[in-house]
Amino acid sequence: MSRTVLRGAYALQGAEMVFERRPLDVVVEGEQIAAIEAANTVREADHVVDLSRCLLVPGLINGHLHSHEHFHRGRTENLPLEVWQHYVRPPVAVPFTPRHVYLRAALGAIETLRTGGTCLVDDMAVGGAIDRGQIDAVLQGYDDVGVRALLGFAMMDRPLVDNFPFVDTLPNELVARMRALPRPTAAEYLALVRDLARSRHPRARRVGVLVSASAPQRCTQEFLLACRRLADELDVPMITHVQETRMQVVTGQRFYGAPIVEYLANIGFLSPRTSLIHAVWLNPREIRALADAGATVQHNPWSNLTLGSGVQPTRALVDAGVNVSLGSDGACSTVSLNMLQVAGAAAALSKVRDADYATWLSAHEVLAAGTQGGARALGFGAALGVIERGALADLVAYRLDSVPFTPLHDPVRQLIYAERGADIDFVMVNGEVALRDGRLTRVDEPQLLAEIHGEIDKLAEQFAASASSVGPVRTAMEALYRRTLQAQIPPDTYPARLR
Ligand SMILES: [Zn+2]
Repeated sequence: MSRTVLRGAYALQGAEMVFERRPLDVVVEGEQIAAIEAANTVREADHVVDLSRCLLVPGLINGHLHSHEHFHRGRTENLPLEVWQHYVRPPVAVPFTPRHVYLRAALGAIETLRTGGTCLVDDMAVGGAIDRGQIDAVLQGYDDVGVRALLGFAMMDRPLVDNFPFVDTLPNELVARMRALPRPTAAEYLALVRDLARSRHPRARRVGVLVSASAPQRCTQEFLLACRRLADELDVPMITHVQETRMQVVTGQRFYGAPIVEYLANIGFLSPRTSLIHAVWLNPREIRALADAGATVQHNPWSNLTLGSGVQPTRALVDAGVNVSLGSDGACSTVSLNMLQVAGAAAALSKVRDADYATWLSAHEVLAAGTQGGARALGFGAALGVIERGALADLVAYRLDSVPFTPLHDPVRQLIYAERGADIDFVMVNGEVALRDGRLTRVDEPQLLAEIHGEIDKLAEQFAASASSVGPVRTAMEALYRRTLQAQIPPDTYPARLR
């Protein structure tokens, strides 16, 4: 077993992320942290990495992104979710090859490693049919770059158009056309995950799979519960998008006679393996149900800001005992997958929720959510997201001689509120070096980025055709969006928007 000594680092140690002003030797054997000793005392090593001017932090866990959005970065702005989403699931999709999809996954993995992350959850849309070549390409992209990754397939068994309320107000011909768009069957989806989990269990492989039911309103109850059973049988995490927007609360009331989290609690869907993505528009009963079930919420503050979805009642969730993890969401809505930016947004946004500053989230709480909260959500418990003996070695070293840490008073605050300013010198994932001296060690980053530029330039016409196919859907959805604003939601829902 290979033994690496990370020499002379200043580390945030243990679950409390204690910072001591004394350098340490962190010993990594195989995939794990084997020992933490005083600096320059460990002699036996196969490899020594000098981190003597660095702060060693557990890698951030990005609990939510969509690799199918990476090539749509910067294409939209100032649209709410229900209007915007048709640009990333358009009637006419841009035809990407397996190589494109490989490059796309690699791009997200590279951005993750360059911005404080070591692990990501990719909720990837598979399009009209399951293409194993494309899925294998995504897994290979993550394998090659060296990130830890869990891949799900945003599964649904209802036509996308039928997940909206007031569909009867849309033009009949448009609804018929949207319902006729090809999509995989429920059985195909479940067989795909079952098959991949045999060789790609996330606790056995650095790159694995999980169960993703895209959103409850996009699934029949039968399919939702089949997803639940599959996640339990395979012992893998399960994710689903819930109440990101006000419209989704209206949707729950019209579909189920209750907001969606209440519905999920009623059908026995919630469990400690379940992560609800976004969970912005919640009432106190739903927060209680999440806490009782031991479920996680994936807080995506930067996405919630850029899509105008609203501000999550994070403090109420934390106080109730709900596990909170952090995610970036997709690069079409957010432009950036930068988890330091996400963490900074989570801390700053909590301060506009309530005038009572005792409720504001601290940088320390946010960093814990982005590391330990993510690990718990993904089934790793305390074996990931901490720097202590026995934990998986997913580590990021920031240069203390860079601007955000000069002068040094509180490394956690200076890491979280500086957002993107810290220089990253070294990244290790699963005990293997992925970035050193500022360079990725496993792939040729400049070459990959150049290839992406060249390939996307060649697809300019297809991007334009895809965008124009959205036009009629957008017009109809804008009318439906305004109609939904008139519908009432439970009066005790936490206010997620200023007005
Ligand atoms: Zn999402």
